[in-house]
Amino acid sequence: MRALQLFGDRDLRLVALDPPPPPGPGEVQIRVRAVGLNHIDVWGFRGMAFAKRKLPLVVGAEASGEVAATGDGVAGLRPGQKVVMYGALTCGTCRACREGRDNLCEDVGGIMGFHLDGFCRERVNMPARLVVPVPDAVSVEDAACAPIAFGTVQHMLFDNARLEPGETILVHAGGSGIGTAAIKMAKAIGCTVITTVGDDAKADKARALGADHVVNYRTERFEGEVRRLTRRKGVDVVFEHVGAETWNGSLLCLKRGGRLVTCGSTSGVSASMNLMQLFQQQYRIFGSFGCSIRNIREALDKMAGGLTPVVDSLFPLEEFARGLERLESRRVFGKILVTL
Ligand SMILES: [Zn+2]
Repeated sequence: MRALQLFGDRDLRLVALDPPPPPGPGEVQIRVRAVGLNHIDVWGFRGMAFAKRKLPLVVGAEASGEVAATGDGVAGLRPGQKVVMYGALTCGTCRACREGRDNLCEDVGGIMGFHLDGFCRERVNMPARLVVPVPDAVSVEDAACAPIAFGTVQHMLFDNARLEPGETILVHAGGSGIGTAAIKMAKAIGCTVITTVGDDAKADKARALGADHVVNYRTERFEGEVRRLTRRKGVDVVFEHVGAETWNGSLLCLKRGGRLVTCGSTSGVSASMNLMQLFQQQYRIFGSFGCSIRNIREALDKMAGGLTPVVDSLFPLEEFARGLERLESRRVFGKILVTL
């Protein structure tokens, strides 16, 4: 079967691998159809000295497919059914796993496509526990945005920041995969959305998604614009993933008691902050990484209800690296998918 392996930093090769054996008890074999690209793929591709992993490694951290076969004892999944996969090999038995807080697993085996072989291969065997059925109304391409992009945003907005209807939210980088999802999810519950983008073409597209106010961060200081738009009150929630460049501006955008939730730091990992501002303003700051399996089901239900992902572009498997270049270039609007 065809697979895409990383042999070293920025060294991806299309290879032929033996297909997996028939699925064992409790396992499902999946024919992979679409893989979503995320910043974790960029980190993996560039190489991260501290990431424990063995090369070559099959890339791809977020994917959808169809059930090809099921092993003994697997209920509720049938051949041909569309599915998505939870891409971290959680233990399934620790307290966090038992309580459905999968992304806080105390004994996680690693993230597929980053520490362990991922989804850029035609077939993969998975524990049935980590396989989530996709509603009929959702396309296999859209479904590929559920395990990381939509799941992460669902977890950030509703489990962590506890966003409520009628609140005001600042969504950074409204043209990114998660930014587009955050705008749509916040609008769907009746929030006022302010978003930042890097050019005017993206501003129009963000408005078309429902954003109420769009700030071009290259020409305006976003924190000043947010203060003006909220009549100096500030927003209830900031959706952060830009990091060092925007961190202090983001805090300045919050109202007293506001919540900041972050899942990324694409512009840099270190920032200093004013601790007096933190406690006097009673900010609540949430670090968020990944999501639970429940969040993936919630994301798929939203897609089935019409809240579909914005897809920027589709690339064939052999052009995975071109997709990553596009992701890094910030020229994207929405998700980049690779199809198999
Ligand atoms: Zn666990």
